[in-house]
Amino acid sequence: MRFMHIRTRFAPSPTGFIHLGNLRSALYPWAFARHNKGDFILRIEDTDLERSSQEAVDVIIEGMAWLGLDLDEGPIYQMQRIDRYREVVKQMLDSGLAYPCYMSEEELNKLRDQQMASKEKPRYNGLWRPEPGKTLPPVPEGVSPVIRFKNPIGGSVIWNDAVKGQIEISNDELDDLVIARPDGTPTYNFCVVIDDMDMNITHVIRGDDHVNNTPRQINIMKALGGSPPVYAHLPTVLNDAGEKMSKRNGAMSVRDYQRAGYLPDAILNYLARLGWSHGDAEVFTKEQFVNWFDLESLGRSPAQHNPEKLLWLNHQYIQNSDPVKLAAATKPIAHEMGMDTEAGPDFVQVVSLLKDRANTLIEIAEGAKLFYLPAPNLTADQIKENIAEAVMPALKDLVEAISTAEPTKEAYAAVFKQILAKYQIKMPALAMPVRYALFATTQTPAIDSVLVVLGKEEAVKRLSKVVQ
Ligand code: GLU
Repeated sequence: MRFMHIRTRFAPSPTGFIHLGNLRSALYPWAFARHNKGDFILRIEDTDLERSSQEAVDVIIEGMAWLGLDLDEGPIYQMQRIDRYREVVKQMLDSGLAYPCYMSEEELNKLRDQQMASKEKPRYNGLWRPEPGKTLPPVPEGVSPVIRFKNPIGGSVIWNDAVKGQIEISNDELDDLVIARPDGTPTYNFCVVIDDMDMNITHVIRGDDHVNNTPRQINIMKALGGSPPVYAHLPTVLNDAGEKMSKRNGAMSVRDYQRAGYLPDAILNYLARLGWSHGDAEVFTKEQFVNWFDLESLGRSPAQHNPEKLLWLNHQYIQNSDPVKLAAATKPIAHEMGMDTEAGPDFVQVVSLLKDRANTLIEIAEGAKLFYLPAPNLTADQIKENIAEAVMPALKDLVEAISTAEPTKEAYAAVFKQILAKYQIKMPALAMPVRYALFATTQTPAIDSVLVVLGKEEAVKRLSKVVQ
């Protein structure tokens, strides 16, 4: 097998809104590089000054760091490479690979109108393209030209797309691409080629909205003596309604998911499956994903975002998380909700109790309120309404038994069992009033565990207020 040092890149344009689908385009090249012990590079394609923003760059970089998509090189900003692009434009002019074109906007528009009228595909007609024996029009005065690439005439561009299979585009379809504007600034497709060459990119894994750019990029690359990388064009990610994902139709940004209490590993697992599969594996570790990742298993049809599945995965990850780590991730949320996690039971214990039933960290934090909000100050009326007179003797016995029991789940469970037997009542008849007395709610996890976490002293104090 031919040895190849794999180098991939994620090359986002930092324009507008960065959603989960965008980050999937980072995940696959990252995984491919890691699987092959290669390099993964972040390149920020920020030459569209009007639409690029630092805010979008920050969201991309933070999102990648949050998901653990580590970089070997970058971020490299295209705006910092403008001199390099200009240098190559000059070389191409000098070597005859490119030429100045003085056709004005108006002339171009006129040409386009004529072509449209005769049902032809609008394209530049090569007026300024130098050819042996051809006389070019006189250079107009005071006009700064664009620079065009001399696209090959005849033949076709063929590549074997790792996702889409073989693609062939006739060179007749491609006109001479503008590689530099009249002010000398390089154009998008040109910068991509120079970067992919200079950065020795071996595999370009990107969204299939770039398929149309690929033949142009391959032609320029070949003209410059480069050999094209492997291309893998990923099908789009659709939202849950089957439309293209965008802010307008409700997509959430990566930051939104972070704030909503999703775990990065759950998101990574979810994104991995959004267009790639390994047998029927649904829940897997990051290491497994990297071990299994290959381009052959990328899906060919658009993937659809499924919020319920993401929530389900998040639940799986929360359930299997180490409580210490989970507590550390939940604490800031609890603080934001106004809880003082130092004033009350050990937070790790609280999280351990709640994690099995929670889908998000927000839900854990909500549940934690039981233990950190002040004890309820029940009025006589509230007690009367919520705790049946008939259960009072049992409750009284329970408080006494609890105060002398070992502070363990088992011991408390035994206390409950004994009181239920003595009074011939069922668990809910006793547990509901206990919950109400402790928290002014009947919704809590298993009561014996709740007593352990709340602490015997505090529990007895709250219960005694009700039974006296
Ligand atoms: N900057 C392009 C985008 O954000 C990606 C270009 C590429 O991957 O070649 O869609």
